[in-house]
Amino acid sequence: MAMEQIKEMTQDYEMYLRDESRTVGFAEQIAFPHTAGEVKRILKECYAAGEKVTVQGGRTGIAAAAVPYGGCILNMSKMNRVLGMRKEDETYFLTLQPGVVLSELRKMIASKHFSTAGWSGESKEAFAAFRKDGAFFFSPDPTETSATIGGMVSCNASGARSFHYGPTRNHVYGLTMILSDGREIRVTRGQKANGYQAEFLCDDGTRVVAPIPTYVMPAAKNASGYFAAKDMELIDLLIGSDGTLGVLAEIEIKLLPLPGVIWGTALLFEDELSSLQFVDKLRNTAEGIASMEFFDGGALEVLRKQKKNSVAFSALPEIPAFVSTIIYVELHSDTKEEAMERLHRVGDVFEEAGGKLENTWVAMNPRDIERMMFFRHAVPESVNMLIDERKKEDSRITKVGSDMSVPDDHLFDVMRLYRRTLKENRLQSATWGHIGDNHLHVNVLPNSMEEHARAKELFKQWAKEICPMGGAVSAEHGVGKLKAAFLAIMYGEKHIEEMRRLKRAFDPKWQLGAGNLFAEK
Ligand SMILES: Cc1cc2nc3c(=O)[nH]c(=O)nc-3n(C[C@H](O)[C@H](O)[C@H](O)COP(=O)(O)OP(=O)(O)OC[C@H]3O[C@@H](n4cnc5c(N)ncnc54)[C@H](O)[C@@H]3O)c2cc1C
Repeated sequence: MAMEQIKEMTQDYEMYLRDESRTVGFAEQIAFPHTAGEVKRILKECYAAGEKVTVQGGRTGIAAAAVPYGGCILNMSKMNRVLGMRKEDETYFLTLQPGVVLSELRKMIASKHFSTAGWSGESKEAFAAFRKDGAFFFSPDPTETSATIGGMVSCNASGARSFHYGPTRNHVYGLTMILSDGREIRVTRGQKANGYQAEFLCDDGTRVVAPIPTYVMPAAKNASGYFAAKDMELIDLLIGSDGTLGVLAEIEIKLLPLPGVIWGTALLFEDELSSLQFVDKLRNTAEGIASMEFFDGGALEVLRKQKKNSVAFSALPEIPAFVSTIIYVELHSDTKEEAMERLHRVGDVFEEAGGKLENTWVAMNPRDIERMMFFRHAVPESVNMLIDERKKEDSRITKVGSDMSVPDDHLFDVMRLYRRTLKENRLQSATWGHIGDNHLHVNVLPNSMEEHARAKELFKQWAKEICPMGGAVSAEHGVGKLKAAFLAIMYGEKHIEEMRRLKRAFDPKWQLGAGNLFAEK
């Protein structure tokens, strides 16, 4: 293709063939647009050539959704400006280009420092009010802060604090999406579908009329396939669409007032069952719980070794030998009195579950909270390093990680399922994640490709068993390429065909996100 923004793939761009799933794809071209206008021109060119397009944000995804399967990579990292601010009642909204990185966004919001060049008068006025106002934050927290807002919206990313604040979806108020043929649609929260028909007005006056799939989504935390419901909000169809319907060019997010007091406590359990009983009781009887995170014996074992063997991890706390499970609870409160009351409630439930108060770590200031975050982040990082070691034996080895969730009343069932079948299959694993939502990442750490294959079969078995429990095969990472078979298990061929019809209404030549969610057929 001729356009100067579209470059031929060379070795210099090799890193763009993979994401954090460590899957490697292939592509013939790559483009790094700076503006929505450039995105349009690139897409029109690709449309005319019938070229496949894979959109990329920060490539931190772990379902290989940003890994290209041929054609052109559209990398959004250069579209990283904050375009404006709006104030409505007492609420502030930010309009972002999709390549804004979460860590940068957090810094800008916390420091109230934005580059306002090119902002409208209304935006500057809202910003002046924002600077004089209290502290605010953007709550979605997918652990890996090099994620971009475009990737987060496309996966409907969640993370620890989504237990209280909900996933990214709940914080998105406006979207501009560019379709594969270069047309643009804008949608704001409040615009509704008509029954099972979604209609979007394009910038050239034409319309996209799309049939909404008729499945009933699980009541559990869910990021599996398209969000679909009768009379749904149109914006929700685009959020979580995994790069398959169009390219997000502008995103409006809502900021929340920062809670006055943020405390965290890690509770050290001798046995896993007590930790589950604690979770079950606490989430039904306590207030102000922003997150409940789980780390099992396998994960703690990896951390113990990491602390011993790597200087970079020496700041990790010493985990006593008797500890089999840790639950981290984060509390958000308005005042210290309220926080203290809530902390006591957590302590009471911990004791009721057989815990001893001396076996707790409490963080009451930002520095200690940061250390807890370091602990949480160290788990996936250490597991990745362990897998890198095993790759030296066989370069094809990867960890096999799950992202399934179930409704509250199936927490004990799903844990029994995981424990029994991992033991039967003699697989090493490390499990962590968002236990408040019954959403754990069970990570099998294979020693060989034979174990790798067994883990994949096991995950298929789990998908078949958690769906009848009312569970979701992906609760936050999105389906991407690696979980497409699970999506078929979850919804069945009839509903997959409905999703194909929806995609064709947006992307008739099937150019975007090849391999994501389901095959073209
Ligand atoms: C250590 C680690 C921990 C993690 N923990 C969590 C967690 O707790 N919770 C969680 O939810 N996730 C987690 N993730 C996964 C990941 O960070 C999120 O899925 C994140 O939202 C991906 O953002 P990204 O910018 O990297 O997107 P990418 O990986 O680049 O892309 C993801 C998807 O978004 C699409 N996309 C990207 N930009 C656009 C755009 N502008 N328009 C249309 N489509 C687009 C891509 O095509 C692809 O389908 C973790 C990842 C790592 C490495």
